[in-house]
Amino acid sequence: MKITDVRLGILSVPLRVPFKTALRSVSGVEDVIVEIHTDSGQIGYGEAPPTGAITGDTTGAIIGALKDHLIKTIIGRDVDDFEELIQSVNNCIVKNTSAKAAVDMALYDLYGQLYKLPVYKLFGGSRSKIVTDITISVNDPQVMAEDTRNAVERGYDTLKVKVGVNPDLDLARLTAVREAAGPERQIRIDANQAWNPKQAVRLLNQMQEKGLGIELVEQPVPAHDFEGLKFVTERSYVPVLADESVFSPEDAVKIMQMGAADLINIKLMKCGGLYNALKIATAAELYGVECMIGCMLEAKISVNAAVHLACAKSIITKIDLDGPVLCSEDPILGGSVFEEKVITVSREPGLGIRGIDGLKYLD
Ligand code: MG
Repeated sequence: MKITDVRLGILSVPLRVPFKTALRSVSGVEDVIVEIHTDSGQIGYGEAPPTGAITGDTTGAIIGALKDHLIKTIIGRDVDDFEELIQSVNNCIVKNTSAKAAVDMALYDLYGQLYKLPVYKLFGGSRSKIVTDITISVNDPQVMAEDTRNAVERGYDTLKVKVGVNPDLDLARLTAVREAAGPERQIRIDANQAWNPKQAVRLLNQMQEKGLGIELVEQPVPAHDFEGLKFVTERSYVPVLADESVFSPEDAVKIMQMGAADLINIKLMKCGGLYNALKIATAAELYGVECMIGCMLEAKISVNAAVHLACAKSIITKIDLDGPVLCSEDPILGGSVFEEKVITVSREPGLGIRGIDGLKYLD
């Protein structure tokens, strides 16, 4: 199976409501799509969302990395030489993890098609269904309470609540969300780097003392501040999950060696795709550190790849793959089925994507 052509496109999907975190506010998904064509006629699909505030990858940067480095590296190569191929994808340019992730997942898609196995089965997976949380954007407390009631009506039993914009309001936000959610629902929070270490400990322990029942906190302090993260992990009753601090398998190992977090969030766009995500999952197994699988604001192609990984690795115990259900429409044909909180993995060979409606090709 030789790679004959790579086509790029832009996929635009509006969100149901704007998505707001401590780092950004977004009203639609506008992602770069990669189609890898082969001499057998099979196509591998990949997707890269521009998430400049987190990965540094903008639309122009993703397209530039693809055109100037990644496509040149893979064109004419045989998908069956998978290990060499995926290593050259990782080595042909530094950083640019979103562009790499799009190519990586498209190659796994083709490799699965070549051997007629869904990707989660290539990885030895046995789960076919997973249950995701849903994000509640950061807003005034009453708006967040309303969004919580809406999510509960849609059947979600785990809410991921964004905090950290005007931290003085965070305690009131969580109180409003807990009241609206009732005592049974899980509440996890994500500060997206907004707090300093002492502020984080104070806020988290206040939440605990108020009986708000926080399951975990994501990335309370800035990404680079591993010592600060460790400070919070050692002093907070609420378990700490490292997200923006972990981009690579090396970051994950360092965080786990330091004991700087209780949990690790794996995202394909941070680590450059499934190949490195598998390394993080394996390292986490060795350290006995459970993982969350997360996504950026992404449509179904890249989130579908994350679903395959989640269905394969039991160390991934927390699922935050709500990108597709935040979108107001689904232009992707095939792939995993997203029915509110329940995601059923595709059993078709590869990643199971058959096509995309309304894709605007760049060439
Ligand atoms: Mg996060």
